[in-house]
Amino acid sequence: MAYKFVDNYRERGARKKLVEHLKGRGIEDQKVLEAIGKVPRHFFFDETFWNQAYRDIAFPIGDGQTISQPYTVAYQSELLHVKKGDKVLEIGTGSGYQTCILLELGAEVYTIERQESLYQRTIQVLPYMGYKAKFFLGDGSKGIAEHAPYDKIIVTAGAPFVPEIMLKQLKVGGIFVIPVGDEKSQKMVTIIRVGENDFDRIELDTFRFVPLVGDQAW
Ligand code: SAH
Repeated sequence: MAYKFVDNYRERGARKKLVEHLKGRGIEDQKVLEAIGKVPRHFFFDETFWNQAYRDIAFPIGDGQTISQPYTVAYQSELLHVKKGDKVLEIGTGSGYQTCILLELGAEVYTIERQESLYQRTIQVLPYMGYKAKFFLGDGSKGIAEHAPYDKIIVTAGAPFVPEIMLKQLKVGGIFVIPVGDEKSQKMVTIIRVGENDFDRIELDTFRFVPLVGDQAW
C-alpha cells in the first residue's frame, strides 16, 4: 500500500458530511462526533480508494481484515463514555482508526492486535500522524493483565462469549464494550463493573464484526 498523508478540502468536506450522517443515524455524543470530524480516515486507505474513505462502510485493509464502519466506531465510542485521562484497553487494533478516535477523546490507549502485519503498520502510521498509543502484538482475548486495571475495555472483533478474564481487568465503575454472538451477527454488550463481584449487563443492537480469534475466543 502506498500511503499519502494529505488532508485536502475534498476529504475535509467529505468528513464533515460523514459527521452529519452519523448525527442523523442517532450518534449524539458531541465529543465523539468531534473526534470523527478530526481523524483523517483516508490516511488509512490507499489513495486509489480515498473516495471510499468517508462513506459509512467497513473497508478491507489487507490481510483479510477491515477498518470498522464509522457508525460502529462512533457507536462503541459513545458507549464507552471516555473521560480525559481514562486508561482504555482496545482489543483488535486493526487499522488503528478506532485507536485514533479514543486518543482524540483524551484516553490513554493500550491496544493489541494479533496480526503482525497490521501491528507493524500501525506502529509506524499512527505516530507519524501524531497519535501516541501503547501498541502490543499478541492474543488480546485474555486482555493485557500486566497493565490492568483499566477504566474502559473495548473489543472491536466479534466474540463467542464474554471472556471472564477480561472482566477482572476492569476497575470498579469501569465499562466494558464487546460484540457477542455467532459468526454471522453479534449483539453489542455493555458491562459495567458496579462492585468487586457485581456486574450490570446490557444488550444492545446487532452488528457484524470479523471474529475475535484466540484463547478466550473462536
Ligand atoms: N478497531 C479496528 C477494527 C479492526 S477489525 C479499526 O478501527 O480498524 C478487528 C481486528 O481484531 C482485526 O484486525 C483482527 O486481526 C483483530 N483480532 C481478532 N482477534 C484478536 C485477538 N484475539 N487479539 C487481538 N486482535 C485480534
